[in-house]
Amino acid sequence: MPKPHIVRKGDTLAKIAEAAFGDRKLAAALAAYNGLADTKDIRIGQAVQLPGKAELKPPKARPAGARAGVAPWPPAPHGMDAIVATFGDIRGFARDDGTPDPKWETQFMARAALPFPIPLDWDRSKSASGIRCHKLIAPLLEAVFTDIVGKGLQGAVQTYGGGYNWRMKRGQAKPSTHSWGIAIDLNARTNAMGTAGDMDPRLVELFEGYGFVWGGRWSGSNKDPMHFQYCSGY
Ligand SMILES: [Zn+2]
Repeated sequence: MPKPHIVRKGDTLAKIAEAAFGDRKLAAALAAYNGLADTKDIRIGQAVQLPGKAELKPPKARPAGARAGVAPWPPAPHGMDAIVATFGDIRGFARDDGTPDPKWETQFMARAALPFPIPLDWDRSKSASGIRCHKLIAPLLEAVFTDIVGKGLQGAVQTYGGGYNWRMKRGQAKPSTHSWGIAIDLNARTNAMGTAGDMDPRLVELFEGYGFVWGGRWSGSNKDPMHFQYCSGY
């Protein structure tokens, strides 16, 4: 499991790599592991995930469209205030009838193209070729699924259960992370809420390496092994 290091004043990725691995030259690999644009792409308070040294690979090419020096996606926010600051103030778009103001979707939602089709959980005769999600994480989801193919884990992704979906958290009066388009559900048939499920641990590790939180780590009836979300503390 990667361990988070919270970036402090004066930290550089080279210093963090030196302290964690005894090798400043692993800064670029650490940047790549965290989905950062380059070794300067850190801010105070940001969580940098530190995997085992053996897991650090040479830096990957930046996803197409990423500009030099600009991170292709924001770091995963922690808590409601940070989620709102990063992905939009959802409270201003909720209508009394339980539907979103259409501006929510036109301003914030986009589509991540999938490198392979995934059968729909609710109708396996059809497949998803893309994921409707927040526009800021579309390149991140594309990178994650490209990595899934690269690591030979395509077979672990059996069904697609949904990305963007305007709704409340199950049994609660606050918006689900699906409402921001920053969560996706996979393999729902065998990963019902409150169960241990059968999610492939290599898939979990891959998503977590990109900063996703896996609902299978939550406890009791909150346990949600089909669910991956790009934020924590919520
Ligand atoms: Zn979910």
